[in-house]
Amino acid sequence: MRIIDAHNHPDWLGHDFARTLANMDEYGIQRTWLLSHICPRNEHHETYFDNMCGAVLGMTDGPTPFARCLSYAERAPERFILGYAPDPRDREACRLLLAANKIYGAKICGEVKIRTMYDSPDCLRLFRLAGELKMSVVMHFDYDRQTTYKDPWTEWYGGTIHTLERVLQACPETTFLGHAPGFWIHISNDDLWKTNSYPNVEKDKIVPGGEVVRLLRTYPNLCCDISAGSGRMALSRDKQFSKELLIEFQDRFLYARDCFDNLHQELLHSLDLPETVLEKILGGNAQRLVPVN
Ligand SMILES: [Zn+2]
Repeated sequence: MRIIDAHNHPDWLGHDFARTLANMDEYGIQRTWLLSHICPRNEHHETYFDNMCGAVLGMTDGPTPFARCLSYAERAPERFILGYAPDPRDREACRLLLAANKIYGAKICGEVKIRTMYDSPDCLRLFRLAGELKMSVVMHFDYDRQTTYKDPWTEWYGGTIHTLERVLQACPETTFLGHAPGFWIHISNDDLWKTNSYPNVEKDKIVPGGEVVRLLRTYPNLCCDISAGSGRMALSRDKQFSKELLIEFQDRFLYARDCFDNLHQELLHSLDLPETVLEKILGGNAQRLVPVN
């Protein structure tokens, strides 16, 4: 079975090139989508500087510069697939995406994680170009948790679940991968999104009718990236629900980690999915979106 991790980063969480490869071998992962993360320094949490080394290397194009993705892919081209997303607010963002695709073979437009609404004209222009280039767009969503100016600074990214719907409508030729707390909290039709980034997987059972499910049924250009705690916890709230969801949308869910543990594979194996469905989610769907030998 071909296993592809559809969301990870170089120099991330204490893993350099050698440790990343050893970790992939340990968990039977043939390939990893290596995504950049480019935004102004004041838009991401300062702890990111503990988790990656773009800044240590003097690269301001971060926190995860494309140069680090490229460095990995050049050393092990058979193990990595390049992702690159310029900041859409950069006046030359479209030219940068084209260059990354044409010169370096970047195949995914991601990770988009910036403090702006993803249905802005600048974002939509970039996303439409990504669609023309057959580059799927990986989007990180997070809600603002700062209610007054006295609250500690919090991160928000992308807008709301309604922003995502407008993006899906505006770019029907582009495939989007939903990711992160602001996306996954809407797997359930409840009000948790107003207060929590993450559910309590024991207590917060799924209420059917969540926006994620409605968007999947309505927009064929939406896929799901199950990476990080957000994706894993969403699918752990009600395993019978998750099993049925993954069978219904077996062509639209992608195994992905954004970390270096094996909890996402363990979760998928615990759902008692038909073998053909498991194969698609663990690697077949990623292979379809980005065909490689
Ligand atoms: Zn993310």
